[in-house]
Amino acid sequence: MRILIAEDERISRELLRRALENIRHEVIAVTDGLEAWNHIVDESADIRLVIADWMMPGLDGIELTRRIRSAGFRHYVYVIMLTSRGQRQDVIDGLSAGADDYVIKPFDPGELFFRVRCGLRIVDLEEQLAARNRELERMAMVDGLTAIPNRRAFDDDLGRRILECQRYRRPFALLMIDIDQFKNYNDTLGHAAGDSALRRIALVLKRALRGTDDVYRYGGEEFACILPETDEDGAMLVAERLRAAVEAEKIPHPGTAPGVVTVSVGVTVHRPQHPDSPSWIVENADRALYRAKRAGRNRISGPQQATCTGGFPVLK
Ligand code: GH3
Ligand code: MG
Ligand code: MG
Ligand code: MG
Repeated sequence: MRILIAEDERISRELLRRALENIRHEVIAVTDGLEAWNHIVDESADIRLVIADWMMPGLDGIELTRRIRSAGFRHYVYVIMLTSRGQRQDVIDGLSAGADDYVIKPFDPGELFFRVRCGLRIVDLEEQLAARNRELERMAMVDGLTAIPNRRAFDDDLGRRILECQRYRRPFALLMIDIDQFKNYNDTLGHAAGDSALRRIALVLKRALRGTDDVYRYGGEEFACILPETDEDGAMLVAERLRAAVEAEKIPHPGTAPGVVTVSVGVTVHRPQHPDSPSWIVENADRALYRAKRAGRNRISGPQQATCTGGFPVLK
């Protein structure tokens, strides 16, 4: 991050530069308010603290400060107003325009140095807070047990995919995946074993998917996958690959006929011609999932039919 000095008087500018010689950040100096503004809006310049003179060509310090405050930058920009205008009303005007600090010329370089340090402390705190918020936002989208994106992330992404689908006229597929007889698994082996099976299955699904596809923990023992740019044939292939991958993991499930944990998968495809709501798309996938369950589990089902292991149609 950098510090910007906006000051049209040469002597004052040099004094400021010297006062900030030992500050641990790069200092840029400009002589004009508009030039200052151009630096501040350039995100790559990363200006976080501005020392602005009041009277300058281009844009005065008050207007510059107002612009900074109303711009809604990603980071906080700390503003120190530096001016020979020392009347009570001037100070009020400067602070009410949005300046964080107000220094009257002639200034004491030593004092200014520490005022800048105060400002940098605020900028640092804001940075830490923003990083913490980003981390919390990320955590709010991740499932605590399986570490894959959660239901909230799914809702967000599904909404976004529907918009993209209308805009770019490309279909996408949704898979709903439900572990077969998982209540029995918990009842037989205990809840801790159930949790660990959920984690393993999340990993298996993630590994079996293409990089462009996403898997979410939809809830309980249900997962959802969004497959962008995918039609029915493609989606059925992916669904079968996921089903087979879970079976091949051979997680023992003593209470069931296959003897291992399996999943059933419901497939639906969303097309731009059908402006369906998110809940309708999920319902479609759920209906397909229900058909796969009814047809005997450990199988996939598309919009119309259930398909058993190996791809033979079983029901309607
Ligand atoms: P089906 O084949 O019809 O899907 O039967 P099922 O037993 O899997 O379905 P049901 O909905 O009756 O039971 C789901 C079970 O999943 C019940 C619950 O104990 C278990 N479950 C849901 N979330 C968790 C979890 O976070 N950890 C563990 N260990 N079990 C969970
Ligand atoms: Mg001036
Ligand atoms: Mg379920
Ligand atoms: Mg289940």
